[in-house]
Amino acid sequence: LQSPAFDPKLREDEFPVGKPVSFSLLSGALLEIEELKGSGKGSRKTMTVILSNLFRLLMHVQPQDIIAAIYILINKVAPDYEAAELGVGDSIIIKSLCENFGRSEATIKHSLATGEAKDLGEVALQSRVSQKMLMMPPKLTISKVFSEMKAIAHSAGKDSQKAKKDKIKKLLVASRGEEAKFIVRMLQAKLRIGIQIPTLLQALAYAFTLTQPGKPNGPAAATDRRKGQAKLSASDLEPQMIAMEAAVRQAFSEMPNFDKLISALMEGRDGGSLLEVCRISLGVPVKPMLAKPSKGIAEVGERLSGKRFTGEWKYDGERAQIHVLSKDTIQIYSRNSENMTEKYPDVIQVVKDSLAEDVQSCIIDSELVAFDQINKKILPFQVLTTRGRKNIAVEDIKVNVCLFAFDCMLINGQPLVKEPLEVRREKLWKILSPSEGKVTFAVYRNFNDINEEEIQAFLDESIAGSCEGLMLKTLTENATYEPSKRSLNWLKLKKDYLEGMADSIDVVPIGAYYGKGKRSGAYGAYLLAIYDEENEEFQTVCKAGTGFSDEDLVTHYGFFKNHQRPCAETNYNVNDKLKPDVWLEPCQVWEIRAADLSISPVHTSAFGVKADGKGIGLRFPRFLRIRDDKTPEESTGSEQIVEMFEAQASISGTAAVDDDF
Ligand code: ATP
Repeated sequence: LQSPAFDPKLREDEFPVGKPVSFSLLSGALLEIEELKGSGKGSRKTMTVILSNLFRLLMHVQPQDIIAAIYILINKVAPDYEAAELGVGDSIIIKSLCENFGRSEATIKHSLATGEAKDLGEVALQSRVSQKMLMMPPKLTISKVFSEMKAIAHSAGKDSQKAKKDKIKKLLVASRGEEAKFIVRMLQAKLRIGIQIPTLLQALAYAFTLTQPGKPNGPAAATDRRKGQAKLSASDLEPQMIAMEAAVRQAFSEMPNFDKLISALMEGRDGGSLLEVCRISLGVPVKPMLAKPSKGIAEVGERLSGKRFTGEWKYDGERAQIHVLSKDTIQIYSRNSENMTEKYPDVIQVVKDSLAEDVQSCIIDSELVAFDQINKKILPFQVLTTRGRKNIAVEDIKVNVCLFAFDCMLINGQPLVKEPLEVRREKLWKILSPSEGKVTFAVYRNFNDINEEEIQAFLDESIAGSCEGLMLKTLTENATYEPSKRSLNWLKLKKDYLEGMADSIDVVPIGAYYGKGKRSGAYGAYLLAIYDEENEEFQTVCKAGTGFSDEDLVTHYGFFKNHQRPCAETNYNVNDKLKPDVWLEPCQVWEIRAADLSISPVHTSAFGVKADGKGIGLRFPRFLRIRDDKTPEESTGSEQIVEMFEAQASISGTAAVDDDF
């Protein structure tokens, strides 16, 4: 973290304190990351250094720009739960390029098809460079670019296409150097350099440890001290950086909002004081707590032995985080923090009707399940997927749902996440009154220690009750609610483990192969990847061509033919032997099941973890369904793949996969 790139004093002429910061600073950092990634040197550590230096400089010059820079880096204009999506269509961008730079659509398409330009960002850059201008508009600033992005994302109505195009044209004309390329990629919401939230949080934590705002010695005091007079070295600050990273991560998991996080950091908060202001709050959905898979009752025994725990039926529906801001304002968020309030007006009414009188506000964690109210029966997940999504009127609803509540994270303004489950659940039971087929609590059984027979009996009951199996959760010790964590304090025991593999796997199609025979004219097989958070890249696990109905094949082809890429994304880690006919954008998650996992000479997931120079692959994968409630970065992680591999009863040492390549 001692990069010479950061020295506010040296760069004062270029970036005067208090003046709007030029966009070139941000595009310079993006270019540096892109080039390092392209040369295989763009490790997560290098990205953290570049980004923390960027934040430190901004902190010194114009702190508000840190928020704008972060949103630009994650291709967003607002937190996930505010439905303000960027993602301008290619056609508007092409039109803007034609009108600005006198190009034709045909030449643009030609340069993309021949690989002269890898994407529209490169087309924009090439077009901008070749155009000479007598009068250049003023330089773009970070805040200007961000405010234009926001205006573009929010523009709606009949003239919005023209308004968007005019704004894009102005941005491109004012761009210098590489800026045009990144502006277009931001507009498409595809920055393509794979910066993810954990890296940003780490970079922020480092920046705010090394450069402390509001301290008497002024900003950058810590850096200056390190440089000379005092005998502090970078390693002296390491424990503080690590502690700060933990605090920043925890703060963001409870308050996933960069505006609030950065404002708190700017006040000089760290550790506990950061969590006083960045804590679970009404109207700000947290990423839900997740469970680790388990392979069977024996493994559950090993993990929970000697602990008090509870088993709950595991319902197969849609996760719903319900925020009661007041009795008249109730919001429902998906697993992915999307606002589903419009999709479930019936649930809003049910919650309203069943809330205890003394509850003014609360946050409930639950599963919404399709329910046959006549026969009083849980219906399969597939039935739920047939429900409409937007502008649903209660009288038009054909698929009824029942809400199965299982946790409670806040009541009457008081956060409960630090309370043990036993306490949270008692409180939950008091605030809702059940009503048959509409709202109730997850069926549970408490255990004071492992009793394999009883767990088995309870598992059988859950399956007979149309559930997927059990969730086993610690009740008293280590039983806090941990937003966004896949915790060992929650284990899932699915009936599927009886069929072989402990769990299904969520993967991202990143490439496709043209079909032959009956499947010609469509894709016959797909290259599937999981997401590795540490390296922030997609790593392949298998090539899959089975489990698809004829209808699935048509649907997938129809969708992916519009989501092709001329080459692999920079964050795809793919062995040359697997090169697909077509590269795909990472934009959809599929749930698949496989017979087992084994060491693979061609797949890159968990590369080198279990065998030198080899990854882990899936054998005999089968498509199950599309997972609309997960983003590609939320697909199965490489750590989970390693855990599944280790849990597999039939591991045959270092046996290689029988790959069909
Ligand atoms: P994961 O969420 O672990 O990535 P997933 O989304 O594929 O995996 P599952 O593996 O099926 O889901 O298991 C976790 C999900 O089970 C939860 O996210 C929640 O939607 C659902 N669920 C059903 N019943 C319960 C319960 N009693 N407690 C917690 N979660 C439950």
